[in-house]
Amino acid sequence: MNYRMAKVIVDVPSRETDRPFDYLIPESMAGWIEVGSRVGVPFGRRTVQGFVVSLHEQPEMDRSRMKAIQELLDMTPPLPPDLVELAEWMSRKYACSLISALQAMIPAALKGKAERYIRVTDADGEGLSEEGSTDASDSLYPLPRLVTPEEEEILAFVRASDTVTMTQLGARYPEAASLIKDMLARGVLTESQAIKDKVRKKTVKTVAAAVSGQAAQEALASFGPQARRQKEVLEFLLELSLPLSLQEVLSTLQVTAGTVKKLVEKGFAVIEDVEVFRDPYQGRRFQRSEPLTRTPEQEQVYHRLTESLDAERHEVFLLHGVTGSGKTEVYLQTIECCIASGRQAIVLVPEISLTPQMVERFKGRFGAKVAVMHSRLSTGERYDEWRKIREGRVEVAIGARSAIFAPFNRLGLIVMDEEHETSYKQEETPKYHARDVAVMRARQHGAAVILGSATPSLESYHAARSGGGDYGEFAPVLLEMKQRPSGSQLPGVQIVDMREELKEGNRSMFSRALHQGIAARLERGEQTVLLLNRRGYSTFVMCRTCGYVAGCPDCDISLTYHQKSNNLRCHYCGYAEVAPSVCPECGSEHIRYFGTGTQRVEGELAKLFPGIRVIRMDVDTTSEKGAHEKLLQAFREKKGDVLLGTQMVAKGLDFPDVTLVGVIAADTALNFPDFRSAEKTFQLLTQVAGRAGRHQLPGEVFIQSYMPEHYSIVHASGHDYLSFVREELKTRKTLHYPPYSRLILVTLSHEKLPLLLRMAENFAGDLRVKAQRQGWFGSLDRFAPAALDILGPVASPIPRIKNRYRFQCMVKYRGELDAVGLVRETAAATLDQLRDAMLQISIDVDPQMLM
Ligand code: ADP
Ligand code: ZN
Ligand code: ZN
Repeated sequence: MNYRMAKVIVDVPSRETDRPFDYLIPESMAGWIEVGSRVGVPFGRRTVQGFVVSLHEQPEMDRSRMKAIQELLDMTPPLPPDLVELAEWMSRKYACSLISALQAMIPAALKGKAERYIRVTDADGEGLSEEGSTDASDSLYPLPRLVTPEEEEILAFVRASDTVTMTQLGARYPEAASLIKDMLARGVLTESQAIKDKVRKKTVKTVAAAVSGQAAQEALASFGPQARRQKEVLEFLLELSLPLSLQEVLSTLQVTAGTVKKLVEKGFAVIEDVEVFRDPYQGRRFQRSEPLTRTPEQEQVYHRLTESLDAERHEVFLLHGVTGSGKTEVYLQTIECCIASGRQAIVLVPEISLTPQMVERFKGRFGAKVAVMHSRLSTGERYDEWRKIREGRVEVAIGARSAIFAPFNRLGLIVMDEEHETSYKQEETPKYHARDVAVMRARQHGAAVILGSATPSLESYHAARSGGGDYGEFAPVLLEMKQRPSGSQLPGVQIVDMREELKEGNRSMFSRALHQGIAARLERGEQTVLLLNRRGYSTFVMCRTCGYVAGCPDCDISLTYHQKSNNLRCHYCGYAEVAPSVCPECGSEHIRYFGTGTQRVEGELAKLFPGIRVIRMDVDTTSEKGAHEKLLQAFREKKGDVLLGTQMVAKGLDFPDVTLVGVIAADTALNFPDFRSAEKTFQLLTQVAGRAGRHQLPGEVFIQSYMPEHYSIVHASGHDYLSFVREELKTRKTLHYPPYSRLILVTLSHEKLPLLLRMAENFAGDLRVKAQRQGWFGSLDRFAPAALDILGPVASPIPRIKNRYRFQCMVKYRGELDAVGLVRETAAATLDQLRDAMLQISIDVDPQMLM
């Protein structure tokens, strides 16, 4: 097939450009351009990056008016066709632009931007761009000859390296901007644009013998006595008959680069640049781990999973297994089966903090077959891990959310560990949920999906129990594991009523029970994990005399105190100021800095247990690359008695000597205006309780709470997922919350409050009318298979960010109706009506963050 035209999605983020544009395929690129190719195309006066989404034989419009693709950026398209198709699905499902979906799928290294290249115009006009002031026919005109000495210097600079980028030129002559502009206008200098990637492939110089057989013998005979070293090098190269790293040859034989260069000049050896992969785990050894003999429970689950894999069926499984029931071992063995049949697997893990132990287990089992896609890698490292996948050098990819886009071509299995975690939802555009994307991708490939958790999300669990829930999007097969292979019992959990402690005169943040527990561990040389529910603690500054709280001038939110730099910062806009020493309102000196919750707990521990070794893990201590791993390693080596931290200590960790887990304030998140508060609290408590007594030593857990009778705390203490779910589903059903409805959160923002309010009202009114016309509008209380309700507009939980006011509407709906399409259409109409670029409307489908 000979394609002449390509439809291209361009990297220009605007509503008007969110559609394919037509470009001719130049003869020279015919056969190279494919669906998923990354190209540079002229767009207006610029060159921009774009992705080919389809190919056509006949242009739909007059050829002479069409522009041609300017450059092809990669030999292999970065996106296989199934990912392009997936992007189209994402754009419909999440009401996002196609370019944002496509960009989410490629590594940052390939987010190229146009660079302006400058060269000196040749005498015959060569090098003039087509869009330049002069085209070929103008070359009859002599070039302006009058060039000032200053200009001559610039010309000499450019000529010296043939082509320079505008950035380089600007850096060399920072004062000459208008002069350079003028030289471009007069045609003395010529400009062209091309896409430049952020990161290049890494190469090393290699050297190899260029002669063999008879010629090699003659070469060896030709060296005189003063060329002894050259001879040695050639002998070495001939012996190994492989290209060797130049650096290695130099250091092994203790020769200089000059010696090798002479061999090259004589034609006896060649030096070549060879592409290499940066390996973030270079030099790390992973303990080889062999598959364990499956327990009967694991066997049942494994059998069911591999049966599905063998049949190459698309099936979704929800693996509900208590903490420590051996889910990870099941993943490993199922993946083994998947890759044995020549297909590939993706493993999703919630957060970077979880990855060290997971990565070790996967590297230990599959070695170099694993690519790790982890947000803390450098752009170059990430790019290389991605290329290993694209080029088929690995069979397993493990990573957070975005690893779901790993460009495998024969995907057999997707594992999503801790499937209930909110980090699987991306909070920036495209606001996708990796679970839904996983199911869709698996469907494309006829692959299986395993959603694993000790505390599945209510959405997944309900879908499994009701055969697809109310939407039928996916109906997972429920698989269960209730025992731990080690035979160890789930730890006993005690709820400590903190109100009682206060009544008894204990004002400390530690109950007497937890205090004694820690003391006992210190005595026995065992370890303790302490969790502080981060969401309840903020680190604000408050005046104890007048109650003043330092707030951001541009956002309606209090500033956060950073001890290290002694300043106050806004987490939404980045505003920062020096922490005051007296109250700006009343001048009082009683202005207090409440350090991070964990810092306060650390201080208290030091007071109560002199000499205690605390390893603190929170945003402050883990901001550096590799910090997590180091802290965990230190704890594993028993360099700490207590591991203290926020959410990040709750999951995935497995330490044999941890026998006590304490939750400092279990219920700080229960009062949040988020319908998932109870669910999140239950999940967190269950997870952290699962950290204790995983091995020989029995574990003990204390949950401190001011609401000890709350069902999420009671059921978490009993490790009773089913009772929790039963109770929680009842509430959700009464209030029409997911999984009994779906939500779309629409946020409108503008600098002018009255205008914003009017537009928000318009939007909601318009949406109501449209829904009514479809026969959808109405309360979800009515008995009807399809219904759509609109709540709001109301001010957003954070009513102002970066000086922009925010209002939101919550769309709640049920049944088979295209609510996303309707919301998107209404938002577009609202924007068209105002035609003011200051108005922004953001659409969040299936929102996870409600505050
Ligand atoms: P989960 O992922 O469900 O929390 P893991 O896979 O981490 O559980 O298993 C918990 C512990 O049990 C680990 O130390 C693991 O090595 C061990 N384990 C898992 N499966 C087996 C088995 N079949 N036989 C013996 N030990 C096992
Ligand atoms: Zn004050
Ligand atoms: Zn701010």
